[in-house]
Amino acid sequence: MKTSADKESKMNLPKLVEMFGSDEKCRARLVKLRWPDGVTCPRCNCKSISTIAERAQYDCNECRYQFSATSGTIFHDSHLPLVKWFMAIFLMTESKKGISALQMKRTLGVAYQTAWHHCHRIRSAVRDANAELLRGIVDETYVGGKVRGMGRGYRGNKAIAIGAVQRGGKIRLQVIHHASKTVLHKFIADNTAPDTEAIYTDELPAYTGLADADTVHETVNHGKEEWVRGQVHTNGIESVWSLLKRSIIGAFHRVSMKHLDAYLDELEHRFNNRKNEFMFRDTLTKLVNAAKLPYRELTKAA
Ligand SMILES: [Zn+2]
Repeated sequence: MKTSADKESKMNLPKLVEMFGSDEKCRARLVKLRWPDGVTCPRCNCKSISTIAERAQYDCNECRYQFSATSGTIFHDSHLPLVKWFMAIFLMTESKKGISALQMKRTLGVAYQTAWHHCHRIRSAVRDANAELLRGIVDETYVGGKVRGMGRGYRGNKAIAIGAVQRGGKIRLQVIHHASKTVLHKFIADNTAPDTEAIYTDELPAYTGLADADTVHETVNHGKEEWVRGQVHTNGIESVWSLLKRSIIGAFHRVSMKHLDAYLDELEHRFNNRKNEFMFRDTLTKLVNAAKLPYRELTKAA
């Protein structure tokens, strides 16, 4: 027999409506994801809790703090009903190229500002701050800045997206402001294991010196139209860049540089969960356990 957890695999729209079509159903799911071992007081960690059913709230028997499944989470203080939150999360995780706030506005029937704010809250929560290091064979390049443009719309734009992908594995993406040797080397040091077997990059002088006793560094010369030499290529990360470009053109239209990092986090999350049948549930779990992102944090100048 299928359990309700199994039903959450490979989430689709009919399942979403069936499973999370009401505030009660959404709330019940958040309770289980937030407190898998039983409701716990967020203030004193006490497990002796009374339920105030009519208000969907809890009352801590130790410190008398009254709270709900969403207290202290990014779902709190939001006028968006939980059903729409769940839909927004589904739409963002489901669409391969991402979904714009404008599309979200139309699909959910909410104000543009609401859609924009919630998209950003979701992005901030999926950020993987403690991702494991890449290892094995890693290819790494960057796009943007002056060296390789991201199309006409990007001319003059100095933000650069740098990324690395483990063959058959995960990606790590980040915004950098200039592609100096120090910055490129730091990105690689921060994101790859010391015993990474091989790092493949473009043939730029800034990449020299990446090899050491247990890591081979090989390059392909994109400037001379060399893209693949046997095993040596950077096609993995280049396909991520083409996805990013298509998202920007198709979904986001113009990405404000201030928010490029957030879009990269979103892309990273989707890409790294591409084989995860439970991406929707795991994203929900991240959201209910993530710190809140105040509106002023979102809108302050970069
Ligand atoms: Zn308490």
